[in-house]
Amino acid sequence: MLSPGQKLGPYEILAPIGSGGMGEVYRARDTRRDRSVAVKVLPSRVTVLASALLTAGVNSNAAPAAAAKSLINLPKIDMVYPPYGSIFDRTSGEFLKQGQADSALIRAAGARRAEFQARWDRVGPKYLTVVWDSIGLAFPYREMQACLTVTSISSMSMPLIINVRSFLGQGDNSRPQEDFTETVFHELMHHYVMPVRNVSALRRKYAAEPSTTLNHLHVMALEKFALLRLGKTEELKHLDHLYRTEPPPAYYKRAWEIVNDIEGYSPFIEELRALRK
Ligand SMILES: [Zn+2]
Repeated sequence: MLSPGQKLGPYEILAPIGSGGMGEVYRARDTRRDRSVAVKVLPSRVTVLASALLTAGVNSNAAPAAAAKSLINLPKIDMVYPPYGSIFDRTSGEFLKQGQADSALIRAAGARRAEFQARWDRVGPKYLTVVWDSIGLAFPYREMQACLTVTSISSMSMPLIINVRSFLGQGDNSRPQEDFTETVFHELMHHYVMPVRNVSALRRKYAAEPSTTLNHLHVMALEKFALLRLGKTEELKHLDHLYRTEPPPAYYKRAWEIVNDIEGYSPFIEELRALRK
């Protein structure tokens, strides 16, 4: 645990926000630009600061379940590719001094930030609109920044970290560019389904599963739901392949099985809809 006042490079720790997943998250102040950030500290060979989420415009007082439909706006998602050079490399999630960063990959990703932004802007709002219109819950943020990274650390819901390594067209396991939108959507849905966590009968039903599996049930149901509604059958096929056959994590596979083969995705969608008042 870090304590308030402690400094991590340019970030001054203010308070813990939470922990879980792969690290601890703190509210902090970016002293260079005097704005709030959320920083995530990961256990690793060395403790690293993976990324900073700039939480400008956080609508933290909103009660998602009670929000009227007219208040539901599409959040603006900014793809950021922070310059590196401070003691942390936020783009690789590693200390530069450790020599972990693959500089060619970092440059390649940085050079294509605008392209990733355009890709999201073109398709992302369609995904969100389908969900907003059918579920009717408000999204907790009006603006959000997605930190693009080339680290092997997988994407995490808080802060929003999007690993673009497999979209750079280098290496053996490159993924279709369209999957980028899907990946961002997936991470956003982790935030969207927060209100269901404590009230879900389905989560109780599958309580014996690992928590990461539980955390993916409603997210994956929304993925399937949105892809079906958008008629994106190729993407759905690819996602199915990814979740069922790619090597770890196993909790992805299990959650996808429950949502597809055991329970079906509709009950999860209905639970989310039931939160709309
Ligand atoms: Zn996830």
